[in-house]
Amino acid sequence: MDKIITTSWDDGHPLDFRLAELLHKYNLKATFYIPKHNPQNVVMGEHDVHLLSKTFEIGGHTLNHVNLTRLNGNALKEQIDGCYNWLTAVVGQKPVSFCPPFGAFNNTVLRAVSHAGFKTIRSTQLLSTSSQQLVAHTTLQMYKHTTLTYAKHLIKRARVNDLAFWLLSGPTCDLFKLVDFYLCDIDKNGGCFHLWGHSWEIEKFNLWVKLESLLQHLSQREGYHYVANAELAKR
Ligand SMILES: [Zn+2]
Repeated sequence: MDKIITTSWDDGHPLDFRLAELLHKYNLKATFYIPKHNPQNVVMGEHDVHLLSKTFEIGGHTLNHVNLTRLNGNALKEQIDGCYNWLTAVVGQKPVSFCPPFGAFNNTVLRAVSHAGFKTIRSTQLLSTSSQQLVAHTTLQMYKHTTLTYAKHLIKRARVNDLAFWLLSGPTCDLFKLVDFYLCDIDKNGGCFHLWGHSWEIEKFNLWVKLESLLQHLSQREGYHYVANAELAKR
């Protein structure tokens, strides 16, 4: 069984370059999901998207950072196909990965994303180490989630086995303990460790120092493949 480590970072805030520097320092692969516009936040310009694409994968995050489950027909198509075409033009190659804003998607959205040409979709589901499927779930978010949030997250989705497993971690909400808990499982059984987050949130909650220790902790692990999200689609 493959042992994989991947990371992904949403929203294309200019602070993504600080993140990119850290990822580069620790030799970690990543996908940056960037919308063309974001009414909720600043987004880097096209020149910077192109620049970032020289070192990291750029994935689709719609044109206007909208909740796709509230759209249908042409409006849905415009956000997804439009984003595919925009990234193709800005980056100079066809995008592979897509992340629906707010983690909001349904079967109609999935079909539209696939139809546009994207090969993998990153969800915001946490505490997962699964490495296949069209939808790539995540393990941890660089954020200060509480134990209660993790419990609610698992219960809301009726993930009984995942809840039972996470309870064995303590249960804890300590990011370092959770990293070791899930890596220990991947060491034995294979799987994908997926860390994600937002650079603007790391700044807002003053998590840069913690992030650097975490990235260092994740780097250079024996027997692990370090991949961008696009490679998950091939496995
Ligand atoms: Zn977003």
